[in-house]
Amino acid sequence: MNFSFTPIGVIHSPYKEKFGIPRQPSLAPSARMTLELLAPYNHADTVRGLADFSHLWLQFVFHETAARGWRPLVRPPRLGGNDKVGVFASRATHRPNPLGLSLVELIGIDTGNGVILELAGADLLDGTPVLDIKPYIPFVESRPQARAGFIDGPPPRLSVCWSEKALADLAIHRIRHPELATLVEEILAQDPRPAYQDDPLRIYGVRLYQLDIRFRIAGDIVTTLEINAL
Ligand code: SAM
Repeated sequence: MNFSFTPIGVIHSPYKEKFGIPRQPSLAPSARMTLELLAPYNHADTVRGLADFSHLWLQFVFHETAARGWRPLVRPPRLGGNDKVGVFASRATHRPNPLGLSLVELIGIDTGNGVILELAGADLLDGTPVLDIKPYIPFVESRPQARAGFIDGPPPRLSVCWSEKALADLAIHRIRHPELATLVEEILAQDPRPAYQDDPLRIYGVRLYQLDIRFRIAGDIVTTLEINAL
């Protein structure tokens, strides 16, 4: 059996590249994005009653990496990039069917011109095609005591410092993006580096909105160096 699915919507996200996106939703709750429903699903009827739910499941396509295929074993970053687990024991993007599943917060719904859902905390790249939306039902889906294998608990967080240059840049760019400081701290505290890299002199860049956030990591401290408009 083969199936063909049509996206019902597309994500508009501050995350313009994969690097730096948190590895699961809610790790950067300040990340605001929208889900624009596409015709013929962009009708107020399709979301009637949805605003009464605080959280949603989004099923989406890992469109950026879909063409790269999959392997039976993957190296999760949480295991330091050395140990392997089966693809179905992981949340890796490279899967036989490149489908993702994220639990996101629903902030609001605008049905003034089509349908736009305002979301918080999603781990989604700009342009991600969404296949389906389902309301989250805590009394059946919340299992705080469940075992979570090698992903048992949140990842360790780095401390975030700002250079004087970065603070001056921030003062300019936060006029347009008031949440910028918090969002940068939430993202950098996750340690976006690939698992095998540990060079305190190396300067990295994360692209957010139309901004390039430059930073360096030494030990468990990440220093934001500067913010440049792209
Ligand atoms: N919560 C989802 C899940 O469990 O299916 C995604 C988990 S996956 C480990 C999260 C990563 O997917 C992000 O850090 C980002 O690098 C990547 N990602 C997000 N949107 C993507 C897209 N449209 N195409 C490819 N990779 C994407």
